[in-house]
Amino acid sequence: MRSNESMMQAADFRGNEEIHVVAAPRPEPAANEVLLRVASTALCGSDFKLWRGGAEFIAGHEIAGWVEQPGHRLHGKLCAVYIPEHCGSCATCLQGMTQSCLTVSSLIGWNRHGGYAEFLTVPENCLLEVPEDIDETLAPLLLDTIGTSAHALREAARHLRNSSPTVLVMGAGPVGLGVLLAAHALGYGSIDVSEPNTERAELAREFGANIVPTASTEKRYDLIVECSGNHAARDLAIHLVLPAGVIVLVGENAKPWVINEDKVFRRKDFTMTRTFYFPKSEFAENVALLRADRARYARLVDDRFALADLPRKFADFASGKSIKPILSFAGEQ
Ligand SMILES: [Zn+2]
Ligand SMILES: [Zn+2]
Repeated sequence: MRSNESMMQAADFRGNEEIHVVAAPRPEPAANEVLLRVASTALCGSDFKLWRGGAEFIAGHEIAGWVEQPGHRLHGKLCAVYIPEHCGSCATCLQGMTQSCLTVSSLIGWNRHGGYAEFLTVPENCLLEVPEDIDETLAPLLLDTIGTSAHALREAARHLRNSSPTVLVMGAGPVGLGVLLAAHALGYGSIDVSEPNTERAELAREFGANIVPTASTEKRYDLIVECSGNHAARDLAIHLVLPAGVIVLVGENAKPWVINEDKVFRRKDFTMTRTFYFPKSEFAENVALLRADRARYARLVDDRFALADLPRKFADFASGKSIKPILSFAGEQ
């Protein structure tokens, strides 16, 4: 059901694991913004903190939608939403690192309204046009699942000295699985994955990974991509990384992490790097990754539902029942 012209349906994350679907004013685009009719928004584990603590703005940050602005060059086109607002003119933006703009640090779905709603407004320079062969169900994967994962690997490659590295991916949630698929595409050979959830581990195995126990210290690695955010996993990564190896931290954890600066930490000349999201310029490469492995990426989208079901489906997602469920507005027009 479509709302009337001035109102829309939106999710209100009230905290204490409560989500209400409410009527909200349909947003009006400011200058240099466009109105987007949301097609689909993927659920993300990083939203758990809003689910528990409440959200000041409409949540949802893995968004694809149709531009709803007659006269705009992209009117009616499907676009993915690049969530970091960015000025395009500071030294960091000019270097291409649009995800780390020095002037603006606002993220769509966090510091302004996101995609768990029928409409949102998006800064013009945050629109990423989605090619026509990619539908609205797969389009959100181009962001966190493929974009964040592939960027972590691209950054790691800048620091790696071994050209055929041994690789461990810690955590096989959407980002870990994304790292696994991107690592195959980027030519890495055998890839080990550690993941406590047996269904996720099984999917990683079907995607060609060699599954290792989560606390295993049997093997050492040139490259470790830490996607769980778990402090024990990060400590283990420091232990397992080979001299001159690389650890990439992609997982998130709001609690302070204390590093034990013992001889293991001191004596390896290793690189530990932290990556965030991806530069806008990598979007075309992310599209290419999706096209090259479409069937396996499609398997990550294991549930699709309407906004009215978000409260229940979000709880299912939080209990680990699905990998990349998608809130979908397709079919409601
Ligand atoms: Zn996300
Ligand atoms: Zn900037």
